[in-house]
Amino acid sequence: MYKFSVLIAAALFCLVSLGQTAVAGQVNAFVYHRFDETKYPSTNISSAVFAEQLAYLQQQNYTVLSIGEVVRRLRSGENLPDKGAVLTVDDGYRSFADVAMPIVRQYGFPISLFVNTDAVGSRGYLDWTQLRALQQEGVEIGNHTASHPYMVEKKQEETQEEWRQRIIEDLKKAEQQFMTQLGTIPELFVYPYGEYSVEVIDVVKSLGFKAALAQQSGVIHSTHDLYTLPRFPMGGPYATLAGFINKLSMKPLVVPVENPVSPVVLSNPPDLMLNIANDGVDLGRMNCFVQGENSCRAAPVAGQVGWYKVVAEKALTGRRNKYTLTVPGREGGWHWYSHLWINADFPAVDGREPTSAAGSEVDLGKTVQPVFENQ
Ligand SMILES: [Zn+2]
Repeated sequence: MYKFSVLIAAALFCLVSLGQTAVAGQVNAFVYHRFDETKYPSTNISSAVFAEQLAYLQQQNYTVLSIGEVVRRLRSGENLPDKGAVLTVDDGYRSFADVAMPIVRQYGFPISLFVNTDAVGSRGYLDWTQLRALQQEGVEIGNHTASHPYMVEKKQEETQEEWRQRIIEDLKKAEQQFMTQLGTIPELFVYPYGEYSVEVIDVVKSLGFKAALAQQSGVIHSTHDLYTLPRFPMGGPYATLAGFINKLSMKPLVVPVENPVSPVVLSNPPDLMLNIANDGVDLGRMNCFVQGENSCRAAPVAGQVGWYKVVAEKALTGRRNKYTLTVPGREGGWHWYSHLWINADFPAVDGREPTSAAGSEVDLGKTVQPVFENQ
């Protein structure tokens, strides 16, 4: 009995230490939109570069999982791989089937497609027959709303309850179309334009989705929140092999508590309070990046171990911006965390092509330079 208790105590100690120090495994997820569609540079990647990226994953023995499998493991407490990657594609453009899939098939990697159902069958988009074929082939299909709205936006004179009902109807409409056309209702969701709020997350949870993916950069790890899973965008200037390798090398900066949780900017520049739980990182060498002619600073909060206050020097510009933190690991490599900001003072512009200027992006290595990130 005594030995048993000691064992349990040891196990508990390990668990507690694990929670505060290392994270068992990680997955670096990527989001693509268009392939060889040079008319849309900010969301496009060339097929040659995409092929090089998949070849790299194979050569370097990355474990490529579907996002559904990652979510299943996160929910059941199973470990993630040491070197894990996830491939996702948003919006359901035809170039996914015509250009990307022939390359994906060569490697047999799982890949997930998030479809905004109102667009299915319209010009440039896949139709339901093609989506059915892809699904039968093993492509995981997820929900990306029906109408691809800016979900956080309320219409003029719309009450909170009316807003909520409108969003629920949009998601349910998509679910109905998936059920009718594909015979299943997806359990995974992607926020259009990567925009969400606490209220949006609440709607997504209330409809039974098992997880939701955002578009801010970051690394998925065992304690990450399931409704703001980060993905590294692979479009425009970031759609290179070097950029891909750089993002694959990133490790998670583990932030169990962030305040505010909501990315919607209430005062500008916004204050962000973070509890950082990594061990083995040199927090004294933390970098902070923000988009625009601006800079930001992360400073420890006096008397509160592990807490940092992050704030930009000047007001944030653009509808979407980010505070991106990078911290060198004591054993090499860099740890990454991004916090999304949405500034509703900048209007949501309608249009299918997701706009660029989503936030600062960092290419790390010898030099640390912030560059823009597209959506
Ligand atoms: Zn989209």
